Amino acid sequence: MAACQVKRDKIKIHGKIKWFYTHAGSRHGFCDNCGAHMFWQNDNKPTISVTAGSLEDTKDLGVWHHIFTEEKGCYYEINPNEPQSEGYGDSNIQEGV
Ligand SMILES: [Zn+2]
Repeated sequence: MAACQVKRDKIKIHGKIKWFYTHAGSRHGFCDNCGAHMFWQNDNKPTISVTAGSLEDTKDLGVWHHIFTEEKGCYYEINPNEPQSEGYGDSNIQEGV
């Protein structure tokens, strides 16, 4: 799943979201109207991940870092020149982007 990560204080969420905790402090947000998976966040981090497919304007999005590559489907090909990690890795948000 493609997602982008932003600081929570830089995002405005319009509409009702249903949140479900999957682990202590880690939750996923779904559209209350259609059930689309839209967000996830760790309450202990200042960021929120937004599913790229839920965005209307994606012209400024690009690949920055592949995570959980050890669990990727065999149908995904990752450009070896792009940063990647088997787990979360160092997926800290880029400043000024
Ligand atoms: Zn929806």
